[in-house]
Amino acid sequence: MADRAFHPPSLWAETAPPPPETATLDSEIKADVVIIGGGFTGLSSALHLAEAGRNVVVLEALEIGSGASGRNNGQVIPTLTRPDPDELAAHFGGETGERFVALLRDAAGTLFDVVRRYDIDCEAAQTGWLQPVHSPGRIKIAERRVEQWSRRGADVALIGREEMRDLLGSDRWYGGWTARTGGSINPLALARGLAKAVIGLGGRVFTQSPASPPLRQGDRWVVDTPNGRVTAEALVMATNTYTDRVNPDLAREVVPVTSWQMATEPLSDNLRKSIVPGRQAVSDTHGDLHFFRYDAAGRLVTGGALILPQNAEQRLKQRIGARLSRIFPQLGEVRFSHVWNGYVGMTPDFKPRFHKLGPNAIGWAGCNGRGVSLAMALGKEFARALTGTPDSELALRFEPVHPIPLQPLVRRVARLNLALYRWRDGREI
Ligand SMILES: Cc1cc2nc3c(=O)[nH]c(=O)nc-3n(C[C@H](O)[C@H](O)[C@H](O)COP(=O)(O)OP(=O)(O)OC[C@H]3O[C@@H](n4cnc5c(N)ncnc54)[C@H](O)[C@@H]3O)c2cc1C
Repeated sequence: MADRAFHPPSLWAETAPPPPETATLDSEIKADVVIIGGGFTGLSSALHLAEAGRNVVVLEALEIGSGASGRNNGQVIPTLTRPDPDELAAHFGGETGERFVALLRDAAGTLFDVVRRYDIDCEAAQTGWLQPVHSPGRIKIAERRVEQWSRRGADVALIGREEMRDLLGSDRWYGGWTARTGGSINPLALARGLAKAVIGLGGRVFTQSPASPPLRQGDRWVVDTPNGRVTAEALVMATNTYTDRVNPDLAREVVPVTSWQMATEPLSDNLRKSIVPGRQAVSDTHGDLHFFRYDAAGRLVTGGALILPQNAEQRLKQRIGARLSRIFPQLGEVRFSHVWNGYVGMTPDFKPRFHKLGPNAIGWAGCNGRGVSLAMALGKEFARALTGTPDSELALRFEPVHPIPLQPLVRRVARLNLALYRWRDGREI
């Protein structure tokens, strides 16, 4: 599908510790579980399966973290963009629905727990996540989210306008809410650290090893790569928005939307004392999302979206630079050191989809831009599913794969949604 270019010149590619040594698969091997995709979903699945004593093989087409996992903003957010807990519980239904909401509530904790247990060097900062609201009327959204998450025991709080101003160092927002278990990581460093942990547990990770569509032979899955073959009892399809010909139907279940990421030059100590001094990760309620977090060196890592791709880097530097200067006048003129992008997989209803792709075979699609901690938690749940936990005890409601009709066309017009979001953003009261 998407452009599969290896690491763009991202901040993360420059600052993450090197990946563990990996080889290309060039022989026929056996495993308990073969995992296709070396991002958070695949690596978390592999880690938790290896912890449960399973012999795992990860096949990654390019390098660890080549997809969304190595390109994202690194915000660890234990909630989805649009659907709230009550809606998610009703959508997935009954106990399964509540279990999924609990998985999401605990997802940030799951991620930071793995980081701590394996001592992963990834700038992990569990400083909390903030969602400021961009219009007075939108405080209702924050109130609703806090009420629904509190009812389920999440560590959340409503924040008034003055407190939010102090937390952010800006008076552009009207209050909001916080999920205190959230925070930020260097995402490529996390992906590489996970791969190292998997290898440490005896798992095998192969890079530059694109998988062909898995075939069922007898009671085994057979996955070919250009120079090798894996035969396994179980399969995890962890290719998400970067799914290619390995499963065209899954690829067409989402609309890939380009998300641009940018990093400023490191801010001075003084500026850092006045702008988000608590170093929380921040994503607001604009449809044309405003988001930012610090990296370890004190750069603001932010970004945005464009309707037209022409001359993107230059236009983004102007547009997002002007936005940051408006929000934080103390910044003056903003200079960016890195600009890169990646694909976010959107489903029409903004909800993820979980699939059984055959006997002992699991996959999912539709992170909708909130997949960092979700993918980590799903990997853990996929491991439970493949080690004997009955479906009736899982947090996953499986459904058939539903490719979006005329997806290539939808993909082309989807970027016009941004014009609508901006129009609405400007009119909300
Ligand atoms: C720019 C951007 C910013 C984002 N910001 C945030 C954020 O701040 N917070 C948040 O919660 N979420 C964010 N997200 C979403 C989050 O990054 C993803 O949901 C998450 O990383 C998905 O992980 P994954 O392992 O499922 O998929 P990926 O990381 O995309 O991994 C899929 C892997 O499969 C591999 N692959 C594909 N085909 C094959 C094949 N045939 N054989 C072998 N391997 C194959 C790909 O090369 C890729 O490495 C963002 C996404 C993007 C793109």
